[in-house]
Amino acid sequence: MKSAQRWPIHPIPVENEALSSWLYRVARCYQMDLEHLLVYEWGQGQLLDIDILPPIGFLELIAQRSGVALERLRLMTMSGWVPWLLDSLDPDPDSFDSYVHQMSVLFPHPKHQHRLIPRWRAWLPKQTLQRACPSCLNESVGHETFKLMWQFPLFISCPIHGCWLQSYIGDGQLSSWHQPDAALIREASGAIKTMDRRTEQALTCGQVDLPRRPVHAGIWFRLLRALIEELSMPIYISRLQSKDLARIWATCGHPVRAGKTRQYPFEMLDLTEQLQFLEASAVAMSMIENQEINARGSLATLFWPEPDQIVDAGHPLPEPSELTEKEIHYWRIVERSLAKTIDEARKNPVVAKALFTVLLFGRQDAKTIRTIRTHLTAFGIPAKWCHNKPNSYPL
Ligand SMILES: [Zn+2]
Repeated sequence: MKSAQRWPIHPIPVENEALSSWLYRVARCYQMDLEHLLVYEWGQGQLLDIDILPPIGFLELIAQRSGVALERLRLMTMSGWVPWLLDSLDPDPDSFDSYVHQMSVLFPHPKHQHRLIPRWRAWLPKQTLQRACPSCLNESVGHETFKLMWQFPLFISCPIHGCWLQSYIGDGQLSSWHQPDAALIREASGAIKTMDRRTEQALTCGQVDLPRRPVHAGIWFRLLRALIEELSMPIYISRLQSKDLARIWATCGHPVRAGKTRQYPFEMLDLTEQLQFLEASAVAMSMIENQEINARGSLATLFWPEPDQIVDAGHPLPEPSELTEKEIHYWRIVERSLAKTIDEARKNPVVAKALFTVLLFGRQDAKTIRTIRTHLTAFGIPAKWCHNKPNSYPL
């Protein structure tokens, strides 16, 4: 490893960009490719899992080289999304059961078989996926950025453009598309767009607005994974819901359980099968919301609309009184100080956490936490840094 001097030039990482994508763009500033940059900085040209769990000390070196905060770099890899997206990158034999069987959507009393799946990690496929949004890349010609989550089976479509992500050939960067150009832009269905927008909201805001009420990002990812598991259940377990299951798959136009005769973990399937399961999940959520199927799982009600409530019209608010000169002076001091703190919190997770704690003002209820986190993310502070209990997912 070289002594850590600052790189003289480097591009700023784009929101949600993968570490490998950004390092590739850094390398291009010096007329290098990623492999040569890694050899120069780290002594190895190929870093397996660079976007999942880089080797110890690597992110620290890159932080020193670039001045980008270590925590921001970590969010450019899957290691930064523990415990929201997955419980651990170093799982124990019970990881599968504790993640997938915590919740239910379709089934009232799931009879889960205890499954030990060694080395299972939620959402991590056998090989990372090479997919990208053609519209996103068209908009960034010359400085193409590849998002971290495109590599994992979490999205079908691009939440910005509403078109399917497409597979490409190339070593971390696009050489050519699998599809001919004319077939590249494929509009996603309404159900898929809704599900993918919710997943995007979980990643960027730390919560998802479901019809009944908002839920924490940690709940959303476990709920989605539980639903995928229910959609893969053998009929002798699903029994009462087997007709609904058949209707969900028929609506998608895919064979039941994506044609698998045995139950395999979603992460072990091929991309085509994973996409069919994701599509079936999107359709299932839509059918629950439209009350086309009778979901009986513990979290199914999250997709139902809030019941009508009679609300007292109340009385008009009193007119606010004018501020005095002195009050205006103090408010300006407060505004300047707050702007400075917010600016610092965008870059520094310690400041972000401190600001979040101050704004909570001792309150711990889920509604207040969600509201303050939403406001801070609107100011560009990563939702992932706005926490006080990282392992808590209030239902
Ligand atoms: Zn896009």
